Amino acid sequence: MDVYVPDHYRVLGVAVAADASAIKDAYRKLSRVYHPDRHGGSARATTCFQYISSAHVELSDPLRRLNYDRQLLLRDPLRMVEDPRAAQALDVLDLVVRRIKRRPEALPGADRGRDLRVRHEVSFELAALGGTALVAVSYDSVCGTCRGQGTTEPARNPVCHVCQGKGTVKHGLRRTNDECGFCAGRGAVLLANCPDCSGRGIARIEQQIGVAVPPRATAGLVLRARGMGETPALGTQPGDLVVELAVAPHPILAIDGDDLVAAVPITWLQAIAGGTVSVPTLEGIERLTLPADLGGRRELRVVGRGMLRADGSRGALRVRLELDVPRTLSEADCAIVRDLHANWGDGAFAAVSDYARRLAQCAPKSP
Ligand SMILES: [Zn+2]
Ligand SMILES: [Zn+2]
Repeated sequence: MDVYVPDHYRVLGVAVAADASAIKDAYRKLSRVYHPDRHGGSARATTCFQYISSAHVELSDPLRRLNYDRQLLLRDPLRMVEDPRAAQALDVLDLVVRRIKRRPEALPGADRGRDLRVRHEVSFELAALGGTALVAVSYDSVCGTCRGQGTTEPARNPVCHVCQGKGTVKHGLRRTNDECGFCAGRGAVLLANCPDCSGRGIARIEQQIGVAVPPRATAGLVLRARGMGETPALGTQPGDLVVELAVAPHPILAIDGDDLVAAVPITWLQAIAGGTVSVPTLEGIERLTLPADLGGRRELRVVGRGMLRADGSRGALRVRLELDVPRTLSEADCAIVRDLHANWGDGAFAAVSDYARRLAQCAPKSP
């Protein structure tokens, strides 16, 4: 988009042939309307006042004006022909206060808002059992305070005298319609800004949206919350919120079909004497009692605490017990353990005895 080059004559609302006093009058009149002090420092008023001031600086000095007229002649030759509308331009300003001409509803090509796409990571537990994920989103939407109009007091915004309320100005040899820079294409100059969106008509919305996650959801699943996307203008359909799911890995649990598997280390003493271990479940950490007669068993099943099946029942939580054997015993400690083993005799290790018995039935290594 081209940079807006203000047409000083249009900005002052005078004909190109206007004399010095007409220029001075126009400047005074417009300064009273657009001075930023009168509009609580409104950004638009400041911009407009800058246009008016520089137009006055350029056109009130005869040499500068001559120079400017040459530039204008090159840029837009037809402008130098007498412009009957220019003389009426300031009369338009006198009519002032009308409603903004270009309503947001009239903006073309925006019948549905954009979908909002976000990636959201849920916990392992939520993905397994399903539930509601709170997805933080921030997006642009119609400002609720001014209903997208950029102002809550349309009556206080004067009709733009530069484009005479059309929002566009014709210029150049081809007479192309360009957005009027004085009113930013609104047709009215937004002097009374909406405090919530600073006149943009669009407000940043930041909120958390609850999105339903089905049980056994996996990473990459795409969820859609209808009507939770952007609403670009009043009267348009909002887009959807599209969530691509990521699942945080669990530090201990793994999924195996309908079961959950947890590898839990236990000590040598726990394997002999029993005790309790802490085990994570989908519902939180729980204490599990190890039976004193654990024997050679290396896996405990907790039924009904695994993954949710389609029929509503649940698989098992399989706790894999991993024997942790001390590796850094002193020579004295090892002597104690050796004494213990000697006291127990070979019968204490049923599996080892059984293995020796079966090994004896095997063929020896051929010579
Ligand atoms: Zn607003
Ligand atoms: Zn305008």
